Amino acid sequence: MARYVDSHVHLSDAEYAGELDYTVSYMERLGIAACAVSMDYTDSARTLEISGMGACILPFVGIHPERVSGPGVEDALHDTVALAEQNADRIAGIGEIGLDPTYAGDDVIPPDQVRVFEHMLELASRLGKPVSIHSRRSLDRVFDVMTSFDAGRASLHWFDGSKRQLARARDMGFYVSFGPVATYANDKQRLIELSDMDRILVETDGPVRFSRCFGLRAGHPCFVASVLHAISEVRRMPFDSVADAVARNSADYLGMS
Ligand SMILES: [Zn+2]
Repeated sequence: MARYVDSHVHLSDAEYAGELDYTVSYMERLGIAACAVSMDYTDSARTLEISGMGACILPFVGIHPERVSGPGVEDALHDTVALAEQNADRIAGIGEIGLDPTYAGDDVIPPDQVRVFEHMLELASRLGKPVSIHSRRSLDRVFDVMTSFDAGRASLHWFDGSKRQLARARDMGFYVSFGPVATYANDKQRLIELSDMDRILVETDGPVRFSRCFGLRAGHPCFVASVLHAISEVRRMPFDSVADAVARNSADYLGMS
C-alpha cells in the first residue's frame, strides 16, 4: 500500500488528460495512490481505462448527484451498476455518490437523487467496496439514508459539517476526509482537532482549484502532503506519525490492510 493516499480526486477529468503519463510516474515515484472517483457512466468507463496506466490509480465507479437528472436516469443507473459488476475485481470503490440540493434549484433533494444514492450504496455493500460520499448541504439526510448501510467503509469527502454532525459521523463510524482548505481555514482545523485520529482521510478533490493555496493550480494528488502537514500542526503531532496514521486509515478504508 502507498505511503500517501488521495482519497478523492477526479483523475479522469479532461484537465489531466495531457499530463496523465507524467502524473502517474510522479505519483509512483513519491509513493502516492489515488482513489480516482467518477462522475457518471462515461466517466466511470474512462476511470477504469486510465487505471490501467498504473497501480497507483484506484478506480471508483459512481454517479455524482449533479449528473442525476432528466429522463435518462434509469438507463444511466442500470449501465453504471452493470459496469461495476462486470469489473468488480478491478474497482477499488464506489463514488462519487451522494446528495446535493444545490443542483435541484429549489433547495429540495430530488427523489431521483435519493434513489440513485441508495442503489449505489446497495451495490457497494453487495460488492464489498468502500464508498466516497458527496454531502454538500445534505449531511443529515445522508446520515438518515446511511442508517440502513454500513458506514464503517464510507468516507464523507470534503467534510464540511458542524461539530454536532462530526459527532454523529463519529458515532456512525464514518471516515471524514479533509482537503487543501484545511491548510488555511480555521473552521476545518477545528473539525480536524475534534476528529478521531483513526477516522481521518486526506484528499485534493482535484482538479478543483483553491484561491488561497497552491496558486490556483488544479489540485494534484501530491498536495495531500500539505494537508497532512496541516493536520500535524493542528494536532501537534510529528508529520510522520500523522502520515502513518492516515496511511493506516486509508488501507482500512480500502480493505487493503
Ligand atoms: Zn469530487
